[in-house]
Amino acid sequence: MLTQGKKGTSGIPRLTDGSGHGSNGNGSNGKSSGGGSSYRLRNRLPDSTLQHFQGTCRALGFDFEQKKGFAVKLQACADLPTRHGSFVIAAFSDSKTGKEHTALIKGDVSGMHACPLRIHSQCHTGDVLGSLRCDCQAQLEASMKYIESRQQGVVIYLQQEGRGIGLVNKIRAYNLQDMGFDTVDANVCLGLPPDARDYGAASEIIQLLGIRSVCLLTNNPSKIEGLREHGIRVTRRMPLVIKANEHNREYLATKRKRMGHLY
Ligand SMILES: [Zn+2]
Repeated sequence: MLTQGKKGTSGIPRLTDGSGHGSNGNGSNGKSSGGGSSYRLRNRLPDSTLQHFQGTCRALGFDFEQKKGFAVKLQACADLPTRHGSFVIAAFSDSKTGKEHTALIKGDVSGMHACPLRIHSQCHTGDVLGSLRCDCQAQLEASMKYIESRQQGVVIYLQQEGRGIGLVNKIRAYNLQDMGFDTVDANVCLGLPPDARDYGAASEIIQLLGIRSVCLLTNNPSKIEGLREHGIRVTRRMPLVIKANEHNREYLATKRKRMGHLY
């Protein structure tokens, strides 16, 4: 049962699950209490809190079910007005990787065929800092605007930075690109795959949302294959045409020539 726990140092009452373990309600950044699988268990929200979040989702028009055997679990949802439209944001934990993912949801997508859907892999430098070295922020914003205009669709935001190699390695790869390597060779030079992304979590989120098939907003054919490998029906693709700038022109050309991106 949820009870109001002792006040923390900030003076804000904390929720506890009655077990003596506090829950910070976000399931992340649990480094202070150790690492590995025990960290994930300690930060898992109590069932009553999950039921509350699921109740909120239902009140917002969604009917999620936690599915047995899924690594991805719904942990919270709320309204999220943005500059590009008004969405519901759903937050998921991923027990396979320990990562957290979100889905921006517009309209009723349960049971939908050819649902407009963007799977966006986190790009700290582009999405947050507005880097001109890539086109990530522009693609994310174009997707949100398109889905808002359609009044139906989903943006799944996956916590897999730098095509899955992580932020530090991405900056190392940038450094190599500054010395003349292209984005593919830079990764290989670091002993890393050109693309280490996985779409298992995204496919589970699509299934949790009850989407029947998707119209994928992407220029990346391997993303379509990645979803199909996990049993998702991709019936259409919509390209995201982003105008190149002087800083990302070579990068976009490499993605087209060496990674098969379509525009
Ligand atoms: Zn980027």
